[in-house]
Amino acid sequence: MRISMVSEHASPLAALGGVDAGGQNVHVAALSTALARLGHHVTVYTRKDDAGLPPRVRILPRLEVVHVAAGPARHVPKDELLPYMDRLADGIADDWATTPPDIVHAHFWMSGLAALDASRRTGTNVPVVQTFHALGTVKRRHQGTEDTSPQQRRWLEPAVGRSADRIIATCSDEVFELRAMGIDTTKISIAPCGVDLDLFRPSGAAEHRPRSHRILTVGRLVPRKGVDLVIRALPLLREAGFADVELLIVGGGGGAAVLGADPEARRLHELARELGVQEQVTLRGQVPREDMPGILRSADAVVCTPWYEPFGIVPLEAMACGVPVVAAAVGGLTDTVVDRATGLHVPSRDPAAIARAVGELLASRELRQELGRAGQQRARSRYSWDRVAAETEKAYQLALAETADARLEPMEGAAL
Ligand code: UDP
Repeated sequence: MRISMVSEHASPLAALGGVDAGGQNVHVAALSTALARLGHHVTVYTRKDDAGLPPRVRILPRLEVVHVAAGPARHVPKDELLPYMDRLADGIADDWATTPPDIVHAHFWMSGLAALDASRRTGTNVPVVQTFHALGTVKRRHQGTEDTSPQQRRWLEPAVGRSADRIIATCSDEVFELRAMGIDTTKISIAPCGVDLDLFRPSGAAEHRPRSHRILTVGRLVPRKGVDLVIRALPLLREAGFADVELLIVGGGGGAAVLGADPEARRLHELARELGVQEQVTLRGQVPREDMPGILRSADAVVCTPWYEPFGIVPLEAMACGVPVVAAAVGGLTDTVVDRATGLHVPSRDPAAIARAVGELLASRELRQELGRAGQQRARSRYSWDRVAAETEKAYQLALAETADARLEPMEGAAL
């Protein structure tokens, strides 16, 4: 199959951990690679966000990334990219002029606009499969007036959902949200995100840790990731007898040296100071992917307590490394982390519950090992990228069959 991926803001080649570079980049890179390995020809279209980027980069014999000139050739926050989606569609349609793909898979709502537009322009209506990664309705519910998404997202995102030929939800919670948006659930397939099982494994070196216990958070440094809740849990853990605990915070728009300029890093530092736990908190900044397994293995527990989470790859990476996860019972985390089997669920935004769950894990090496082993098995058996690619391929086949049927219907009508 010739597959086009569209990922407007999230390039598979970007460094991870910055404000707009996280799970979607990992997802597009790993899924495209797995599909190319299955024998498909994959082209990823992303916005040229740096003047030095070449127009095309070949990653594997059957996988290339095309940088489309759509807006300024520098980083533009994703919530300001809507005006450039026409140009992105132009670039994609131009590239398809000689040979359109069999299918186009768009990632995030704005990529869906560009993919639908490019598909219409070919005249052959290339079937469009859509993965939202995050939904504006959920974001608004949790972020309210802090949500910087453009107003148009309110009506354009559901329109993308209605117009796409098939939607891939990454977790069961997303299906309920899509139904609430008025989207026909018969055209929804579920395929989760996966984890790189060659990189994330329990065996291998673990980074040295300075205290007897280490808990870890990993992710973009944005308020909704709930890192402040984990800082708030530290004094409670201390009261419960766990004083020698380091909280390592990984992520942010650069290395530790530039974190001083990051408003969220400053807010977290300030909070730690106010609570008198600054000695226990380390902000590491952005860490290259290859260093992540050694850091994960150095932790007694990985804590993921976002306000909401469309999927959440970090818990899977922790599980694949055999590390138990304390997870807020929200979004994709309710599918990936099985309460009392691979980790412990806590209610959303509840530092006391986080402290209790972390305390329970720190108190028992046996429990940590038991949950870690089960997590590793779950990650290996269900979340390999090969399996996710096979499930995605099934969704593509369905989209192709359904579009072929839809094209036949008027012809059959005409024959009668
Ligand atoms: N990540 C990384 N370096 C960092 C911070 C994050 O490599 O400094 C990776 C992390 O290991 C994971 C991804 O970025 O693979 C974050 O994905 P997730 O789905 O957890 O969060 P999102 O960013 O999509 O909200």
